[in-house]
Amino acid sequence: MIKNLASGDKTAPKTISRDQETISVITSKNKPQWQRELANAIRSADLLCERLGLKAIGSDATTTQAKASGAEAGMTQKDGDEASLSAVLEQFPVLVPESFLKRMTPQNPRDPLLLQVLPSFHELDKAVGYSFDPVGDRQSVFAPGILQKYPGRALMITVGQCAVHCRYCFRRNYPYHQSPRSLEQWGPSLDKLRQNRQIEEIILSGGDPLVLSDQRLAKLIGQLDAINHLKRIRVHTRLPIVLPSRVTEGLLDLFRHSRLQPIFVVHANHPNEIVDDCAEAIVRMVRAGIPVLNQAVLLKGINDTTGTQAELCRRLINLGAIPYYLHQLDRIEGAAHFETGVALGKKIIEELKQQLPGYAVPKYVREIPGEPGKTELT
Ligand code: SF4
Repeated sequence: MIKNLASGDKTAPKTISRDQETISVITSKNKPQWQRELANAIRSADLLCERLGLKAIGSDATTTQAKASGAEAGMTQKDGDEASLSAVLEQFPVLVPESFLKRMTPQNPRDPLLLQVLPSFHELDKAVGYSFDPVGDRQSVFAPGILQKYPGRALMITVGQCAVHCRYCFRRNYPYHQSPRSLEQWGPSLDKLRQNRQIEEIILSGGDPLVLSDQRLAKLIGQLDAINHLKRIRVHTRLPIVLPSRVTEGLLDLFRHSRLQPIFVVHANHPNEIVDDCAEAIVRMVRAGIPVLNQAVLLKGINDTTGTQAELCRRLINLGAIPYYLHQLDRIEGAAHFETGVALGKKIIEELKQQLPGYAVPKYVREIPGEPGKTELT
């Protein structure tokens, strides 16, 4: 158990390091390729910088490049920041799979993929309006591990692990240890789902549900298949983007053979992510007959231009995936440096409408706790 330092909230629940959980999952024997890649993912800022040929500037290996990024942006570092950032990294460590690393440009400290995963001293900034739970996850708990925010849909926190740690993640402080783990533990929550006949779509989320092994997913899908009023199973996942080897025929079969209509919602933010093995993985999903939608987050200095968003949308539709949402950043503590103004987002969407077919323009949305759906920013 590691104290959650990111929020500065002393009442915040302690969480198990998600990295620890990941390791516990992947040390089993006879691992498939994707699990071996996850086991070998980069887990330190130092190694990440070294692999990209970026020069470290201090003795603290963990934070040197973060320091360099801050200096480049004109920020000053306060005494004690280094220790504070190290504490943050203990709770939410660097995690970058090799495939995602390969899509970064060496010796470019402003690489748009690198900036999504590289820790920064800005994560220590306290910004007005930013909080521990910006989207009201905790007030939406319907049963342990299940959230319900919108009519007809419920979301399962299937697992706390991911294959990458995005520094802007709105669930970076989520108390994953409070969600059931084994199928037996899920029993009472699945009972509640059975009793609520209004729910027709179940969303597998996390963390990232595709971190679960095929065997565990098969058991979970089997339980959900047996709930007659469920019609659709949606999967919110970044694995096809950052760890494309996860998209195996075996995985696709699990969903193809389900009674429930599957829908995969992937998460790519920049066109440089949609290349090589990632592009091939998207094609595999689309050719398996599974609708693939993408949601992106508008991130300052990473994808906040019309040209970048247009190219992202083009690459997606050329592969058969639909740009679904462009999210205004959820105001999670430690991520304020990623936020852009809403006016810029609106301008980008208007310009996209002039360049792309209607189906290729995502909805620009913000999640507001208590609202019956995402709020479109028009
Ligand atoms: S993959 Fe999703 S849940 Fe995981 S760290 Fe990134 S944004 Fe958060």
